[in-house]
Amino acid sequence: MIAGGVALVLAALALLFPVLERMYLGQLGTREAPTLTLAVEGLNGSLRRFEALPGLIAERPDLVQALRDPSDADLIARVNDDLHRTAEDVGLSDIFVIDFSGLTIAASNHWKDLSFVGQNFAYRPYFTLALAGDQGRFFALGTTSGERGYFFAEAVRDGSEIIGVLAVKFTVDDFEEAWRDGSNKLIVLDDAGVIFMASRPAWQFRSLVPLSPEARAAIEETKKYPMDALVPLQAVQAPFDDRFRQVAITDEAGTTERFIVQSQTIPEAGWDVLLLTPAEQAWTRAMGTVALSALLLLLVGLIATVVIQRRMQLQERIRAALSMQEELEHRVSQRTAELKAANHLIMQEVEERRAAENRLRRTQTELIQAGKLAALGQMAAALSHEFNQPLAAVKSFARNAAAYLDRGESEKVRQNVGMIDDMVDRLAAISTHLRNFARRPGEKTEPVLLNRALDTALVILEPKLRATGCRVSHEIGCGDIWVLGGQVRLQQVFVNLLSNAVDAMGDVPDPVIDLTLVQEDSEIHVRVRDRGTGMTEAEIAQLFDPFFTTKEPGKGLGLGLSISYNIVRDFGGTLGGRNHPEGGAVFSVTLKLAEAPSLAAAE
Ligand code: ADP
Repeated sequence: MIAGGVALVLAALALLFPVLERMYLGQLGTREAPTLTLAVEGLNGSLRRFEALPGLIAERPDLVQALRDPSDADLIARVNDDLHRTAEDVGLSDIFVIDFSGLTIAASNHWKDLSFVGQNFAYRPYFTLALAGDQGRFFALGTTSGERGYFFAEAVRDGSEIIGVLAVKFTVDDFEEAWRDGSNKLIVLDDAGVIFMASRPAWQFRSLVPLSPEARAAIEETKKYPMDALVPLQAVQAPFDDRFRQVAITDEAGTTERFIVQSQTIPEAGWDVLLLTPAEQAWTRAMGTVALSALLLLLVGLIATVVIQRRMQLQERIRAALSMQEELEHRVSQRTAELKAANHLIMQEVEERRAAENRLRRTQTELIQAGKLAALGQMAAALSHEFNQPLAAVKSFARNAAAYLDRGESEKVRQNVGMIDDMVDRLAAISTHLRNFARRPGEKTEPVLLNRALDTALVILEPKLRATGCRVSHEIGCGDIWVLGGQVRLQQVFVNLLSNAVDAMGDVPDPVIDLTLVQEDSEIHVRVRDRGTGMTEAEIAQLFDPFFTTKEPGKGLGLGLSISYNIVRDFGGTLGGRNHPEGGAVFSVTLKLAEAPSLAAAE
């Protein structure tokens, strides 16, 4: 686009150039017109000035006498001097007197080597014209002096008789000298078209157009110019307008100069004065204008290009920003959609979790329910087993008693009734256990004496210990230890633990139970260690489950540890069982220590 614009501008300027050059040529010609007028007036002035002189000088009486008697040397000498002085006074090149035959008898330049005196000028037209009574005027290259000059001649009359001619000559070198200043060229053409004056010496005696043969013949006849110098210039002329024309002159070296030409004629002399102004100035000016315009246009183009580019960049940037915004919006909406989808998924997951949780809870509830039912079943089975055996025994003892009563064996009856009594005791014991199992969380805890609970438990177990030969080694200490709990329940816990320990050492030869108390911060640990068989991992895991027992039917209910565990927990303590590293099991009851109550409360 830019290249196209530049080409267009250059084409426009190329078209503009000739128009501009022509305009500037016209301006140039107009500007230089006064130069031509000045030159013409200078020439005219000189011609007019010198025109009248021959007539005036010719009237001098000495001249008539000299022409009548040319042999009078004194007279001739006087005339010569006279002419010389006059020539110097008026600024003429030469003044000379020619006799009837054309011979020069006196001259202002008589003293020079190339004096006119003795020369015959009968061939010169100014001589013949003057001799005929007219004013002779003639331009020629001086045959004697070799100087170009203009000749005026008038007849010298003796009365009315023409006896000779007085001629004056003025040279034109000074004019040419004056014209040489400045860039303009001035040439003067005679009526034949020969350049006889030129500010450029090389153009002297040349012509702009070739001379006709007649003209050449006339020049040869009057010896006006040297014939060998009459070579036409290599000039091409072209009309310009009604005032000017154009001339292109090529010199011998082949260099062509172009001029804008204007002319004026000097009719009296038959001269054409031509002012040649070098067209180069107009060319340079036109070139300058074109170059400046081109520069300006380029500058404007450049500015316009920059502005357009800036604008395009701005538009591009706006477009980019818009597309970025669009992209952003798109991404935001995409992200929102993704988030919505993710949210939906999460909601779905939450929903599923909730459902799963519900399912789990339901399953758990079902399991608990099932567990409860199973426990109830187990308990029912154990209870029926525990109750059935004594009941069956009671039944058979009752039958036996009835039979012995019939036979009158009262001793045996007593014996059987006594056994029924034992069985009922056993049933009562089971029932008591069951009652204990029914926890009474409402029962409050209070400071109780740990020592007392242990002592009572040992007293309760005394018969069992004695029966099995079991020893209790205890370091209970002397001081009272108050703990949080309930007296009877606490003692039941110890009875359970000690009883289990005795059971565990059924086959041990020298059964011993270690009972230790260890105080730690605000707690106390009561440890019951036996030297029995210990427990398997599976047993440890189920120790505190209700109805878990390894004892043979009729011997254990599996409720002791379960009840004890709950009791200790109600006191804010803990119960745990593990194997002792040196064999046997060790059960540990941890209880919270309590402040001793006031004396009244204790009682
Ligand atoms: P039970 O004594 O009626 O079996 P427990 O709840 O008191 O009921 O005991 C449950 C079970 O724990 C016992 O059957 C026994 O297997 C185990 N056990 C309790 N104490 C000991 C111990 N000192 N040594 C070994 N096993 C024990």
